[in-house]
Amino acid sequence: MSQSSDIKGDPRGASALDGSINWLDDLKRKRRAGPSAGHETNEAWGDSTRAIHSGSRDDPQTGAIGTPIYQNTVFALTEDHYRSVEEGYPRDRFIYTRYGNPSQWAVQEKLAALEHAESALVFSSGMAAIASSVLTLMDKGAHVVATKEIYGGAYNFFNQELPSLGMSCTLVDPKDFDAIEAAIQPNTQLLYFEVITNPLLSVLDLPRLVDLARRHRLRIIVDSTLAPPVACRPLEYGVDIVVHSATKYLNGHSDVMAGAALGSRKLIDQIWPRLLNYGSCLDPHACFLLERGLKTLAVRMKAHEENALAVARFLEAHPRVRRVYYPLLESHADHKLARQILNNGSGAVTFDIEGGDEAALKFTQAVSIPKATASLGGVETLVSLPASLSHAGLTSRQRTQMGINPGCVRLSVGIEDSKDLIADLDQALTKIFP
Ligand code: PLP
Repeated sequence: MSQSSDIKGDPRGASALDGSINWLDDLKRKRRAGPSAGHETNEAWGDSTRAIHSGSRDDPQTGAIGTPIYQNTVFALTEDHYRSVEEGYPRDRFIYTRYGNPSQWAVQEKLAALEHAESALVFSSGMAAIASSVLTLMDKGAHVVATKEIYGGAYNFFNQELPSLGMSCTLVDPKDFDAIEAAIQPNTQLLYFEVITNPLLSVLDLPRLVDLARRHRLRIIVDSTLAPPVACRPLEYGVDIVVHSATKYLNGHSDVMAGAALGSRKLIDQIWPRLLNYGSCLDPHACFLLERGLKTLAVRMKAHEENALAVARFLEAHPRVRRVYYPLLESHADHKLARQILNNGSGAVTFDIEGGDEAALKFTQAVSIPKATASLGGVETLVSLPASLSHAGLTSRQRTQMGINPGCVRLSVGIEDSKDLIADLDQALTKIFP
């Protein structure tokens, strides 16, 4: 564990990549984790210690604690930088902020430490992370098998962008492993699934999916936005790349748009050129906010889970609520799997209210603490109606086929006092069902 003062480049990478090594031609080379210029992780550290200390870079000149905001676009270039470009390791040097910046490296290293990944990249949004990762792992003409219960933006990307690039996609029920296997074609290269789906919060059988992918020699990307590192670490099951909308739990304060992709140094190095080509780098100030948000990830997730479980139990006992979906409830179809895969239940709770979509809309207007919004994962409780937002493009029949019933409400339970939340939900239900 060390706090390096070398901010010109990667202090660990530098020793392995000194000028005497012809990096590109050395087949015995081992890629280093990182890049890193911050506070290295002690492998024995737990989630909270990693969240607070990993990657963060105190200012060696002034002694200021915490990573400064490196609000610059350019860096002084030396011979070493020119060599890094020529010999193929510019990701390990600071050259230009779209390529890399200490604020980006700090938050990337913290994310990698939390996800137990070798390397991480941050992006300007979750969609940028998804698009760059998927396109990296697919060649022209390739096919991807993806989950039907996919986030709407990712669905649009698969549906609208892939065909224009000569690629194709088949959507399958993530519970139906026969259908997943049957959808694999000779040109299939990738499986794309979500660890916890929205809005019904079904849990992905990660070990089974990894086994299937290995048998067919396919890559796997999972979106783990609803199950951030404290809740689940999909890389430990053998998936290739984990992507996140860091806009949600990772940042946690509903004030930053960001995305992340994590995995082996080798694969993340391959995704990096996409980030450069699409220009989807994360601004240094947003990196600072994301890094600050991440410091409380572990305590926030604990509070989200405690509140979500209390709210889910309250709703389950309410006579006007037909059904509650929360993976840690015994009544959830994936409860057993959730206990096996998830270390934390996170904060999303979905329920079907009596009276259909009209009653659901009235409910969102009758609550006073939850804010009606399109997002999730903030410290404040948020409420949304899948039928009118994320799944508005489907007919009501299609929604019912997916399991989204009339009256479906999704709560992203925040970290307020659970008694206040429950009192507010109770008064709202009494107001609409007098
Ligand atoms: N993945 C999931 C599961 C999401 O819910 C979202 C956004 O809602 C995204 C990806 C896209 O993230 P962003 O909005 O940060 O681009």
